Amino acid sequence: MKRLFLLSFILLLFSNTAYSAQNENANISNSTEYTTIKKKDPKIFDKYIIKETDKTKYQQKISADNKKYSSIKNQLNNDQYNLYRIFEQIIRANNLEYQNWRIGIKRTATNVNASAGSANLILINSALYDSIYNDKDAVAFVLSHEMAHFLLNHTNKSAKIIYNIDKLEHKLKGLKYYAKSSSSKNELIYLSSISTLNIKLNRLYKKLREMELEADKEAISIMARAGYNPDNAVSVIEFFEKLPNIDTAKSSHPDNLERINNISKEISLIDKESLKNQGQANIFNSDVVSIKKSTDKYTFVMNAQKKLTLNTYVADSNETKLILKAYNYYLDDDMEQAELNFTEAFKLNKTNYAPALYLSYINEYNYLCSEDIKKLKRANYWIKKAKKLSPSDKNISKQEKDITSLLNKINK
Ligand SMILES: [Zn+2]
Repeated sequence: MKRLFLLSFILLLFSNTAYSAQNENANISNSTEYTTIKKKDPKIFDKYIIKETDKTKYQQKISADNKKYSSIKNQLNNDQYNLYRIFEQIIRANNLEYQNWRIGIKRTATNVNASAGSANLILINSALYDSIYNDKDAVAFVLSHEMAHFLLNHTNKSAKIIYNIDKLEHKLKGLKYYAKSSSSKNELIYLSSISTLNIKLNRLYKKLREMELEADKEAISIMARAGYNPDNAVSVIEFFEKLPNIDTAKSSHPDNLERINNISKEISLIDKESLKNQGQANIFNSDVVSIKKSTDKYTFVMNAQKKLTLNTYVADSNETKLILKAYNYYLDDDMEQAELNFTEAFKLNKTNYAPALYLSYINEYNYLCSEDIKKLKRANYWIKKAKKLSPSDKNISKQEKDITSLLNKINK
């Protein structure tokens, strides 16, 4: 698992309607009168919202696709077909039909692994495939992880890192040999050079481990778009944990606990429903991916769609993920979660006025529900922040006026 740098592979182990809250706030003095507090929404986050594809039309499309799958089933063995169906969903849900992908099960009873390399080849070792084949979410996670290495350009970056590691390891070997065979005076000089080399090497191995964590994170969005449950990704890492493995500063993969924590953190950041809607829309607008048997006899080709010739995949930033999550909470009237997530989004990018504007709306809404003056003051705090960032924005000016008028009322 760690002696992988001879191969140019990265080994696996290692994305309107105005909602007006009919708030049933009874006036304290008169229980028969109700106040309606309208939520403000200038819809500036509409571009992030992907609506669910029409259920009936989607089902019709799936039925038509199913007919096409039956002819592909005849060309593959059961395991290849299982792999094909999962990979095909991943490709279509993420708009990845821009090139031919090659995929296969590599025969090995002992090396529990998968790899991404040679620009378009994903191999899953039979030792790993046979261990997880009946868990579609687990297979989807493995394939999404490998796909993430391509989409994040890791295959190129890691080739350079691995080349440098090989060079330094070779040098280190030589130094260790000379240190042993030299006089005790010279030995100290050698030992200091060895320690410098080890520091350089540890940094390179750390870069490889960071790429693995990045691939795990992106895999969560990739599999969620394809309709698989990211909560089950962790089961793959838990399986790896059962394998004999020693983590050192020179491991190419992070320790499993770090991977599990990284995945859990990412799952809390994504909006599963939105990703699923996005994936369904992509599947709805695409065709069944046809296949060709490879000349090598154990891989097969997932043919590119002629319409797509460029990789247009863009990994969502953490800021985008938080804004999407916050906005959905806002639409669902969960002001506590909306406030929390917009605040986190603002912390990540203090030049974006939009979360600050919505934080002002949330606090104004909370003030109108509770008459808690602290909330109004917070609404004022956030609109001032937004104003500084975008002084000429009309929504901000309007909100500033509203908050000032509310503040004037209580100061009377
Ligand atoms: Zn990997």
